[in-house]
Amino acid sequence: MNAPTPFKQHLIDPEICIRCYTCEMTCPIGAIEHNDDNVVVDADKCNFCMDCIPVCPTGSIDEWRVVPDRDQAYSLEDQYEWLELPEQAPIEAAPGAEEGDIDDAVAALLAEAHKGAGGKARPPVSAVKPQVNMYNLGKPAEMTVQGNYPLTDDAGHDVHHIILDPGALPFPVLEGQSVGIIAPGTDAEGKAHLPRLYSVSSPRDGERPGYHNISLTVKREEGGIASNYLCDLEKGATVRVTGPFGATFLMPNDPEARLLMICTGTGSAPMRAFTMQRQRAGGGRTGGMTMFFGARTPGSLPYFGPLKKVPDSLLRQHLVFSRLEGQPKEYVQDRILAERAEVADVLSDDKTHIYICGLKGMEDGVDSALTEVANDMGQDWITLRDRMREEGRYHVETY
Ligand code: NAP
Repeated sequence: MNAPTPFKQHLIDPEICIRCYTCEMTCPIGAIEHNDDNVVVDADKCNFCMDCIPVCPTGSIDEWRVVPDRDQAYSLEDQYEWLELPEQAPIEAAPGAEEGDIDDAVAALLAEAHKGAGGKARPPVSAVKPQVNMYNLGKPAEMTVQGNYPLTDDAGHDVHHIILDPGALPFPVLEGQSVGIIAPGTDAEGKAHLPRLYSVSSPRDGERPGYHNISLTVKREEGGIASNYLCDLEKGATVRVTGPFGATFLMPNDPEARLLMICTGTGSAPMRAFTMQRQRAGGGRTGGMTMFFGARTPGSLPYFGPLKKVPDSLLRQHLVFSRLEGQPKEYVQDRILAERAEVADVLSDDKTHIYICGLKGMEDGVDSALTEVANDMGQDWITLRDRMREEGRYHVETY
């Protein structure tokens, strides 16, 4: 009989996963599946191609455990039961094997982990612990539409502010978390639609203070099942909601933490929630917030009007437009470079947290701009970024 060989198993962190199912749709060999509760990886199928790693918006896909032998890998049934990932269990040496050999093998296998997504996402140290996965596909929360308001005056770019009321149902959310919306009906294969994810744009005590209702910022997508359903909702209608999801893209509770928020389009949703939370918390000095917000035009920038009323002392705003008539295209990364001294000042503060949300395509440009800013400071951006991520101060949610 062969001696057992430690086996590195690919897993998904159920606490951090936001059930967007992007990994499942990306996996080329069908090794990822889900039920009403969790998204899981089949150890018998996964070939470590890593295609699913960069597409995950939270890094929850980038989890690995070493088990004593392939036969002892966590089963799909085990994974479906989990509310959180099990700790790495100690691996015992097989009879006759040297203890040190096994330790080295485990260390080498785990050292490879977290390379794909650039590191494991971590919540801010001072963040409140969020509730996650209270409602799922099999048991969604039913919420009532309290309001549905157009936010933009651009016919080709219809964005709505939608307010949902959970009524007596407990549905605690923190700023930065997301919810899933289940559109009614079935897809072309007759299967029920999977929930589509939307970031919550209201603060923790509700869109209306003390009411614990939530708001979403939804752009109508051509042919989009959930976005058209949401944008067309009438007041009083009932909506099925899953979640809340997300345990890392959260704001620090430390009022002195400084926030650098970089967003495009509807990626501004969590930034609105952060700003409102700080506004409502009121009192005393805060570390301040700086936002780079990119949109096509002022007419297509969600919350343009209300934003103009937020004082500079609370939020330094850089609103950046890419389609202004007679003007060159400008992206958030261009403005970061134009304001490099201000950004360097923010980056050099150990209390700074960075939040990037919106189009996936912005990530590279923002990385390059921050590389230049860090160079000005005599620092290497990748080293600084990875340290910030380790410390729960670097947060990205793009798709
Ligand atoms: P949009 O209006 O299409 O774009 C917003 C701005 O970003 C425009 O000025 C656009 O310029 C610019 N842009 C395009 N490519 C860029 C790049 N490579 N780097 C920097 N800026 C770039 O945005 P949207 O339709 O609202 O879409 C927002 C995206 O955010 C969606 O993909 C949505 O799924 C995502 N989102 C994510 C979350 C989340 O992760 N939690 C939450 C909400 C939304 P152009 O004039 O060139 O188009």
